[in-house]
Amino acid sequence: MAAVTVRAPAKINLGLSVGAPQADGYHPIVTIYQAISLYDELKARPAPDGEITVRVTGEGHDVVPLDDTNLAVRAAALLAKTHNVTDGAALSIHKTIAVAGGLAGGSADAAGALVACDALWGIGSGREELADLGSSLGSDVPFCLLGGNAIGTGRGEALSAVLARGSYEWVLAYAATGLSTPQVYSELDRFRGPAGAAAPELSETLMSALRGGDPYAVGPALHNDLEPAAVRLRPSLRRTLALGKEYGALGSMVSGAGPTCLFLAADEDHAIDLAVALSSSGLCRSVQRATGPVTGARLIT
Ligand code: ATP
Repeated sequence: MAAVTVRAPAKINLGLSVGAPQADGYHPIVTIYQAISLYDELKARPAPDGEITVRVTGEGHDVVPLDDTNLAVRAAALLAKTHNVTDGAALSIHKTIAVAGGLAGGSADAAGALVACDALWGIGSGREELADLGSSLGSDVPFCLLGGNAIGTGRGEALSAVLARGSYEWVLAYAATGLSTPQVYSELDRFRGPAGAAAPELSETLMSALRGGDPYAVGPALHNDLEPAAVRLRPSLRRTLALGKEYGALGSMVSGAGPTCLFLAADEDHAIDLAVALSSSGLCRSVQRATGPVTGARLIT
């Protein structure tokens, strides 16, 4: 195949409940994921045997590694090794998803690389097979392949279906610089102290709001256990969240481990008003609108 292009969506967590760290240091979570219409685009072209390279353009390209620590390169290398493929791949990623923004941009690129290289090399893996490979690269990779809405347990990689209706209008406010996910989890442990935390659980209020598909019920039910930790590390987020509320956001929260702030609007017109208010506030680096849910990483050519 000459070249293939894949679009891979960002994820948000409508609810994120985090338990106490286990012996291996990982925190068990229960989350409700939604894929949103904010995409990284990944192209894969043939390359000499054994050669996997990447170039990156777009949002935050200067802080994305170009060596074999890049998650898309790791994904392609893992796929090649698993199927004894000797062909190479020249990957190019155009990023729209903010790096280290709590939107799983790296995982989206890994999911994109799995789908793209699978097609480029004519392997023909099923989604389940790619998701299994993806889960060893990052907990959010299986969801970036699946898309839609889903419940994630374990580290977020074990997915199950969620009954959810409706389409949602989101406004995202990007911060000037990213937050490190491990640092946010450490901060959460630090202020929770030795008492730790209860086992993570699904919010029934959020589940029933999603079943009803009503943004007015979903907004107040949005919940993220990592938000207080992200706000402690980046106190300026408090003002951004407050501004969204002031302009009538149905729900406001930090996305994942932050620092991107996420606002649920009532409809498209409201989303435009919110985006304008946030842009002109000078509190954030840039603002984007997105809708969800959307499908997971897909070939577009
Ligand atoms: P996490 O998925 O850990 O919650 P995040 O969604 O906040 O993180 P990402 O955009 O995935 O953030 O970036 C996390 C780190 O992964 C970055 O600091 C970056 O150095 C590294 N990284 C590796 N490959 C990529 C990639 N293809 N795109 C973005 N970041 C990458």
